[in-house]
Amino acid sequence: MSFSSLGLSEQLVRATSDQGYDTPSPIQLQAIPAVLSGRDVMAAAQTGTGKTAGFTLPLLQRLADNPRNGKGPRALILTPTRELAAQVHDSVNLYSKYVPTKAAVVFGGVKINPQMMKLRKGVDVLVATPGRLMDLYQQNAVRFNEVEILVLDEADRMLDMGFIRDIRKILALLPAKRQNLLFSATFSNEIRGLAEGLLDNPVQVEVAARNTSAESIVQSVYPVDQSQKTALLSKLVRDNGWEQVLVFTRTKHGANRLTQKLEKDGITAAAIHGNKSQGARTRALADFKAGEVRVLVATDIAARGLDIKQLPQVVNFELPNVPEDYVHRIGRTGRAGESGHALSLVSADEGKMLAGIERLIKKQLPRKEIEGFEPKNNLPLKPKAKADPSKARNRRPQGGAGKSFGPKPAGRSGGRGRGGQGEGQGRGQGQGRSGRPAQRQSA
Ligand code: AMP
Repeated sequence: MSFSSLGLSEQLVRATSDQGYDTPSPIQLQAIPAVLSGRDVMAAAQTGTGKTAGFTLPLLQRLADNPRNGKGPRALILTPTRELAAQVHDSVNLYSKYVPTKAAVVFGGVKINPQMMKLRKGVDVLVATPGRLMDLYQQNAVRFNEVEILVLDEADRMLDMGFIRDIRKILALLPAKRQNLLFSATFSNEIRGLAEGLLDNPVQVEVAARNTSAESIVQSVYPVDQSQKTALLSKLVRDNGWEQVLVFTRTKHGANRLTQKLEKDGITAAAIHGNKSQGARTRALADFKAGEVRVLVATDIAARGLDIKQLPQVVNFELPNVPEDYVHRIGRTGRAGESGHALSLVSADEGKMLAGIERLIKKQLPRKEIEGFEPKNNLPLKPKAKADPSKARNRRPQGGAGKSFGPKPAGRSGGRGRGGQGEGQGRGQGQGRSGRPAQRQSA
């Protein structure tokens, strides 16, 4: 299967081959024809599946097939974070290289005036975080009367981050006749409710998450007392000679503290989270990618959407509160068919979280104690048998396509990194506009 056989124009196919892609990913195989047909689409797919091209390519084709002269935007793509918005915007620019489409991106945390000026010049595709988009609308800097296609990208995260009210306001302002595409990694009842009101007889697209609890990722649990975690991490980095490891903490403070301790210990480290200025975040990621920083310490939301090519090692310094986040975290390693390692430092107080994760991924992770770091407080060995269905969010159904995109195109490994160009973000990470604190990040 090739991109041209999916019905994409020569200009768009050329743009994908410039990126070194010749085989459409499973989500692209399903989504591209569905979007081209003009129907609404509901897609279960997470970052790393190639979903961005899956909606961007056919969207560009539909706009190009039917040129208009207005000021736009004709397509509106909403994303939860500034990083993701910037990445999607980059993708739109790459794929629209040979078509006349103009794209722009707007998000909070940076000056609004340049964004207003950009919009005034006219734009076909607008990528936006919901909060800043509403601000721009309220200041008459953008109108929605020409919107033909709406994309909600990572809809589950947008709801988690408290954007539902902004989204509903925006939906109410859009022309009734339009094409709607909804992408989400998970399908909770809340997402289903949103989809029901939004989508008209949608084509449903589903692919297995690459790497979910996957064969390509070697996962293990290192039981250790909380107080010993930093020392153990330092030891692991040194003993294994890890040169590039992504470490997750639950909180922003935790990320800062760990970074300082590692640095004190002579291991180069940088933190990336919502309290950091955009400049600091961009720098940290660039340094990490360039190999100047060995350890990048991130919180869940900050790490969302980061696509660092072929990251060999991910460490959970603390387990996430939400079991699905574990799957997102470990999905950062072993990307694009490479094998990866995900290792979790788990203290006794995290036993419950571990059980929740093992229930979700339907397997028990192997425990491995490290000499000199044996915990005083032991972890329960077996996950608890009984699940609490009221607490588990609905997980995207399994099944369908494979975990790699097919033969690995030559251009990929040396290709552009992603996520380094992020600039500013909608709201602070902890809070949505509604004032409801996001559940995921406590500090
Ligand atoms: P996404 O899931 O959209 O965040 O994309 C994940 C990564 O896969 C990005 O680095 C894309 O550039 C890359 N990618 C997208 N489509 C393909 C493809 N057909 N073949 C190989 N890589 C791809």
